[in-house]
Amino acid sequence: MATVLSSVQMDNKVTSYISKNRKMLINGQWVEAASGKTFPTYNPATGEVLARVAEGDREDIDRAVKAARAAFETGPWSRMTPSERGRMIWKLGDLLEQNLEEFAELEMLDNGKPLKVARVADVPLAVDLFRYMAGWATKIEGNTIPISAGTKFFAYTLRQPVGVVGQIIPWNFPLLMAAWKLGPALATGCTVVIKPAEQTPLSCLRLGELVQEAGIPDGVVNIVPGYGETAGAALAAHPDVDKVAFTGSTEVGKLILQAAAGNLKKVSLELGGKSPNVVFGDGDLKTAISGSASAIFFNHGQCCCAGSRLYVEKSIFDEVVEGVSAKAKKINVGPGWEASSDMGPLVSEEQLNRVCGYLESGRSEGAKAVVGGGRHGDKGYFVQPTVLVDTNENMKVVREEIFGPVVSAIPFTDYDDVVRQANDTVYGLAAGIWTRDIGKAHRLASQLRAGTVWINCYNIFDAALPFGGYKQSGWGREMGHDVLELYTEVKSVCTAL
Ligand code: ADP
Repeated sequence: MATVLSSVQMDNKVTSYISKNRKMLINGQWVEAASGKTFPTYNPATGEVLARVAEGDREDIDRAVKAARAAFETGPWSRMTPSERGRMIWKLGDLLEQNLEEFAELEMLDNGKPLKVARVADVPLAVDLFRYMAGWATKIEGNTIPISAGTKFFAYTLRQPVGVVGQIIPWNFPLLMAAWKLGPALATGCTVVIKPAEQTPLSCLRLGELVQEAGIPDGVVNIVPGYGETAGAALAAHPDVDKVAFTGSTEVGKLILQAAAGNLKKVSLELGGKSPNVVFGDGDLKTAISGSASAIFFNHGQCCCAGSRLYVEKSIFDEVVEGVSAKAKKINVGPGWEASSDMGPLVSEEQLNRVCGYLESGRSEGAKAVVGGGRHGDKGYFVQPTVLVDTNENMKVVREEIFGPVVSAIPFTDYDDVVRQANDTVYGLAAGIWTRDIGKAHRLASQLRAGTVWINCYNIFDAALPFGGYKQSGWGREMGHDVLELYTEVKSVCTAL
C-alpha cells in the first residue's frame, strides 16, 4: 500500500478496510472460512497484495445456502410487504451514494480502473440500479385470465419469487455487477448467496455491510468470496439453490449450465462477446471516431460488449483508422489513482498474459498494429491500447474474445457483406452503427443478431434498458422489467365459483 498512499490522499475508511483480513457474510454474521483459509487479492497497478480475504469453499457455500433457505422460508423477509422491501432497496442505494468515494477507491485499487471513471460510472450506475429496482418491488403483478373451460371459473396468475438464488459475478465491474444481480433478486423477494470474483472481492464485501445497515434481514444476502472452481462450482451445483445467475466467460457459462443440471435449477447467463461496430461513410465521422475508440478502450476493453470488430466503409477506412489510432495514442495509461490516467492496468497477470498472447497470435498470423501492440511498462499489468489492421476473418484476433484494449479494423464495401461479417460470430451481445441514414440504421439494427444495438453511440447503459445476449452470449436479460422474469415463477390459480 505504501506506493498508493504516497500518491493519493486515500479515504481513511478504505485504508482501514483493506488493512484487515476481510471475512464472509453468512446469516448476518461476518465469519472466517470453515477451513480457516484466506486468499490474496492484488493491486493490479503494482502486482502487490492489496488485502487478504476469507476463502470460501463447498462447506461455506453450504452454510450460506442454508441461511438463505431459512431466510426465504421462515425469516422476516418472507413476511415483509413489497413496500417495505422497496424502501430497504432504496436505502441501500442511498447508503451507496453516501459512500461513493470509498467505493470508487476500493474499485480502483482492486480492479485497476481509474478512480475518475469509477466515480462517474461504476458507483452511480449501481446506485441508480438499486433505485430503479426498489420501484419494482411494489409492481410485480399477475393477471386475471378469462378461461374458456366454462363460465364457472375464476382464474388468475401470481408472480412469486423463484427462491434461493446463487449469483456468480465477474471482476470487470465488481460493484455494478453485484448491483445488477442483487437489485432484482431483492425486489422480487428472493434470498441470495453471491460469490464475487476472486480477483475483486472487496467492493461486494463492503456492500454487504451496507445491506445490513439498510435493514435487510440476516440471511437474505450472504456473500461467499472464493475461487471459481471451488466456491463457484459448489454454488452452481448446490441441490438447494433454485436458480443460478452468472456473468462471466462463455466457457465457464457452459460449466455452470452442466452443474445446474443436477437439480434443474433455473439458469441465467450473461457471457462473452465479439461485438461488431459498423461505421458508414455518410456518418458524422468525428463522433464515429471518438465513439468507436471508446467502444473498445472503455474499461481497458474488459467489457463483454466491447466493440472489438470495427467494420469501416472502405472510402473512409484510412481516415477512421488514423482517427481511432490517434485517440489510442492520446490515452494516458497509468495507475488508477493518478488524475492523469485514462486507462489503468488489466485486472490480473493472467489477463495480461492472455491479451499479450492474442497480440502475439495476431502478429504471427500477419496482422499489423497501427498503434500499440504490447505490454505497457514492466510493472503492473498494463497493456497498450492497440489498433490492428490487415486481419482476415479467420484470425483468432477477429474471432475470439480478447477482453483487452485491442480492436481489429476491417474495411467493407457492400452492405449485405457487412451484415454477414458482423453476424459471423458465435456471440451476439452488442453492436454499434454509425450513420446519418436512419433507414439504414434501423434496418441494420434489426438484422444484427445482438441483444443491444447502439446507433450513433456506444456503451450506453441504463437500469431501465434490458441487457443480454443472443446465441452464445447468454440466456435472459438483466435490467429493465425483463429481469424480473428471471427471478420469479408464475403460478396459475383456478377457482371453481
Ligand atoms: P474470466 O475468464 O473473465 O476471469 P470467469 O468466467 O472465469 O471470467 O469468471 C467469472 C466468475 O465465474 C468468477 O466469479 C469466477 O470465480 C467464477 N467461476 C470460474 N470458474 C467457475 C466454475 N467452474 N464454476 C462456477 N464459477 C466459476
